[in-house]
Amino acid sequence: MARLLLFDIDGTLLDTCGAGGSALLDAVEAVLGVARETIPPLDLAGATDGGVVRRLFGQVGREWQSDLARSYLDSYLISLKERLNQPNFEGYLLPGVAALLPHLTQLGGADIGLLTGNIRAGADLKLQRFQLQSHFLDGAFGDDSEDRNALGPVAVKRLESITGQRYQADEIIVIGDTPKDIACAQAIGARCLAVGTGQFTSADLSTYRPWHCLDSLADTAQVCELLLS
Ligand SMILES: [Mg+2]
Repeated sequence: MARLLLFDIDGTLLDTCGAGGSALLDAVEAVLGVARETIPPLDLAGATDGGVVRRLFGQVGREWQSDLARSYLDSYLISLKERLNQPNFEGYLLPGVAALLPHLTQLGGADIGLLTGNIRAGADLKLQRFQLQSHFLDGAFGDDSEDRNALGPVAVKRLESITGQRYQADEIIVIGDTPKDIACAQAIGARCLAVGTGQFTSADLSTYRPWHCLDSLADTAQVCELLLS
């Protein structure tokens, strides 16, 4: 039976140390003309970019317009690229990720994709910054839906069309760092490996009853055993 692994990005694979959130606020100033200091703190954990943009528009009293949202996201991407490539960028890969992805690819036994709230172009920038993009066949992104729970079926369909496989729900594992990752796995009957490397500890995440919780992905052998057996 074919196995499918769907990885979240922020808090699971990498930490941009605020570059992503700062780029969202840069675009608020550049496109919406509102000072970042007047915006309530962004709640980005497990959020989709589309959902964040809609909430930001509401917070600054702007009506939702798709062309303005597009301009906003274009501005966000320019700023994100700049911030990811600044000399003082402090972002890093989370423990074990640098070893895990090549190891999974080398072992085979699973197809690997993304399930992320980042819009596709933003996901590409973040993964390229750490040379991770080659490990993922495709995925579902924040521009596919504002509702994270709607992203699982999109990811599965895209991966099935690439690999020619059919993935049964119990052969799909979502790897993520927030209760929303756990919920979006449950929404498609998939398992979730929750990792406490984002804003939530593994103890926090365990209360949402994921299939499995780990403090991190640091133990490559243990994680491969979980994901491939
Ligand atoms: Mg995350």
